[in-house]
Amino acid sequence: MSVKTKTLAVALSTGLVIGGLTGIPGLTHTFADSSVKKDTVSQMQKAPKNVIVMVGDGMGLGQLEIARLMEYGKEGKLQMEQLDNVALMRTYSADNYVTDSGAAGTAIATSVKTNNESIGVDANGNEVDSILDLFQASGKKVGLISTNTVVDATPAAFGSSAPNRWSGSDEIARQLYNSDIDVILGGGASYFSPEKQSGTDLVEKFREEGYAFASDKDELENVGTPDKLLGLFHPSYMNYKLDVEENKSNEPTLNEMTAKALDVLSKGKNGFFLMVEGARIDHAAHAADVPGVWKETIEFDNTVKDVVEWAKGRKDTLVVVLADHETMGMSAAETMEIEALKEIEVSPEYMAGRLKKDDNGEFTTDSVKSVFKEYANIDLSDEDVAQFLQNIKDNEGTVYPQHKVGWEIGSVIAKRYKVGVIDREVRAESSTGGHTGNMVPVFATGVGSERFEGVLDNTDVSKLIAEAAKLKTIPGE
Ligand SMILES: [Zn+2]
Repeated sequence: MSVKTKTLAVALSTGLVIGGLTGIPGLTHTFADSSVKKDTVSQMQKAPKNVIVMVGDGMGLGQLEIARLMEYGKEGKLQMEQLDNVALMRTYSADNYVTDSGAAGTAIATSVKTNNESIGVDANGNEVDSILDLFQASGKKVGLISTNTVVDATPAAFGSSAPNRWSGSDEIARQLYNSDIDVILGGGASYFSPEKQSGTDLVEKFREEGYAFASDKDELENVGTPDKLLGLFHPSYMNYKLDVEENKSNEPTLNEMTAKALDVLSKGKNGFFLMVEGARIDHAAHAADVPGVWKETIEFDNTVKDVVEWAKGRKDTLVVVLADHETMGMSAAETMEIEALKEIEVSPEYMAGRLKKDDNGEFTTDSVKSVFKEYANIDLSDEDVAQFLQNIKDNEGTVYPQHKVGWEIGSVIAKRYKVGVIDREVRAESSTGGHTGNMVPVFATGVGSERFEGVLDNTDVSKLIAEAAKLKTIPGE
């Protein structure tokens, strides 16, 4: 039990509740009004029937501020910042002061710090239970949603275990199959295919277990409210918001996946646990891509709005919104050319896909120039192009894969439009590709949300949820 909740428990058992001690907003103001005080206390003692954890991957305060400014202007507000309770959270992992998404997801999901690149295991490689496992054991329905592949770090940390996140994706898909999760929605279809599963069609196996299956937006819409639901909408990551149109994708939005999951999971009498990840905020941030961070964060924020509205009428649901770590030290720098950035309508990764190679396998100078001009309105000199062509190769002279060429394109754009972000040399030397140890925000509302105040550690999240839900087992203890 954390110091903070211990204070709360003591205060409750003695009937002495002091706002300043417990950090419950509003209590200091309503102290004289005993009926309000009683109300708040009875709400604190009630356990939430449903718990929804929403993770903005790589969503630090800078990402939030950029999204807020670009969407709503200087005086506007995001949905998540209007939730009742706010905390800050530290994110370091067992072996580094900067975490990757594997160790970060594991800490949030299991309350155990592990090494970077590990998932659902402790620092010694031993499997640990996640809060999802504990809710499932207590009879609740459970669900996972991500715009990443569903076998990637954050969903995997809740639903599986892998000592190394990069070698274990096929195995994680099998673990998701074996763990009887009621709703799984996101990208990563290729990991369920016979090619990756030694000839077994894992989607077919899910079907045999009674799962309804959806592979695009229309199928998801028409699937009704089955007892169990698997939706895989892309072979790999789902599209960046910026690229959905260009790529003519018919995948559902995060809002649509979440609305469907709420329909399916709320059929259960005992309530549910749902994790929703806006994964590509992190991916856009790795590419120093301000327009991408803006669009991805706003989609996530709009999903928070939908979830909070769904939960509001019910008074039986806890919603916790947080980031797993910060990416690229992004900040709302004063120099940032917002209007020019707003004009960019595709991701740097998409731009990378438009570059043309010559007979020697090198990108042509002309195509580099025309892509930057067409999609980012940037004129590059021959010198700029030569530097760029050098930057997209590793030490052995091999050209990076498309997403990493995108990182370099994004960094050129960020520099030209004076964005506040870690530069490409620092990113290249970083084992996490530019994550930082900056504290990240936690927002919460609903039954038990008053626990989420002050400075937390990422291992506190599942403990506080388990305490609020009165689970018999507290994760990590
Ligand atoms: Zn990342």
